Amino acid sequence: MAGGKDKQVGDGTRLVTTGRRGDFADTVVNPPVWRASTHLYPDCATLRAGTKANEDGAFFYGRRGAPTQWALCDALTELEPGAAGTVLYPSGLAAIVGALMAVLKAGDVLLVADNAYDPTRNTAMGLLKRYGVEHRFFDPLDLGSFADVFCEKTKAVMLENPGSLTMEMCDIPALAKIARDHGAVSLVDNTWATSLGFHALEHGCDITITALTKHIGGHSDLMMGAASAGERWYRRLRLTAQQLGHVVSPDDAALALRGLRTMGVRLQRETASALATARWLDARDDVAHVLYPVLPGSPGHTLWQRDFTGGCGLFSFVLRNRDDAARCRLIDALDLFGIGYSWGGFESLALPFDVPGVRQKMDWPKKGWGLGDDCGIRLSIGLEDADDLIADLESAFAVMDEG
Ligand SMILES: *Cc1c(COP(=O)(O)O)cnc(C)c1O
Repeated sequence: MAGGKDKQVGDGTRLVTTGRRGDFADTVVNPPVWRASTHLYPDCATLRAGTKANEDGAFFYGRRGAPTQWALCDALTELEPGAAGTVLYPSGLAAIVGALMAVLKAGDVLLVADNAYDPTRNTAMGLLKRYGVEHRFFDPLDLGSFADVFCEKTKAVMLENPGSLTMEMCDIPALAKIARDHGAVSLVDNTWATSLGFHALEHGCDITITALTKHIGGHSDLMMGAASAGERWYRRLRLTAQQLGHVVSPDDAALALRGLRTMGVRLQRETASALATARWLDARDDVAHVLYPVLPGSPGHTLWQRDFTGGCGLFSFVLRNRDDAARCRLIDALDLFGIGYSWGGFESLALPFDVPGVRQKMDWPKKGWGLGDDCGIRLSIGLEDADDLIADLESAFAVMDEG
């Protein structure tokens, strides 16, 4: 198996050739699922030597993985320019918490972007606080005053792009540079774009985190997370994850690898359908704002064009002058959209959200995007035909106003 590693190849080719590790690579297309808690050694001398090489590819014990997990790590590392390695976690949130615990210690201060994923915020306010790490939320759109948020104890900055639910694009290279100038580690939750759409390490971040549950799995049937970094932070991530006892099952790793192979075409298709849907919504009088950086003219589009090489099917919109009851009538009337958390699967989903309650520093809606209306709906566009999704939305909008 030649692989695409040393050649300049496109993302599609890389997705097919990467992570096909090991002696079996010329025999079967996919790495076997190695279910293994126990690894055997031929003799005591080898057993003793085996404990020293703490690397993917070195058999040791099930908690350090086996070829199925290593193949997935190889693939994710190869897809992330600048990464020396990747650590897997049992969920996306476990990846965020595992990475934060790898870089922080008692007495440190963590800065958290105010539009970060809610469970990330809860970890800062809960677990990390209990372990002596203080946090401050900051407005990631307010570049001018970002430097003022730092103090001597600031050790890490947690970013997310675009922001959860409200989809603001921030200037990651500028924020990461200010963090670095202040001696702080920058981490970014890159679940929306994945490494196909945004090269986080090349844009100045130290650690990039992805919930594999979303696009990489892609089929709504597994939970997993990953963090990738250059040599220095990769070591720390790895050792911390080992001390936390994190391991993912080889079956789930095989599912994630299977999802990864088709991620490129899925993302392209989702993005095209989401753009068509967003355009259709944008033209409606009963829609106040469409929050989708891929949509020309929408907030953040210029930054998206500058920094990103792709998008995905996840975006939000805000109803004009409608209350929660009207919003629920709309969502309940949808046929093709499931109602649920998560996203990035092959099927479309809709979710109501109200943002002002979960922001502390961003003066949303007044300042953030100038939103005057509060009833938000997030859509995860799947692989259905865009025309069918739009027709479904059109009849649901009609039901909304019947109430
Ligand atoms: C879903 C999600 C996560 C967490 O992933 P889980 O696998 O559900 O724990 C993290 N960040 C973002 C932006 C997400 O949407």
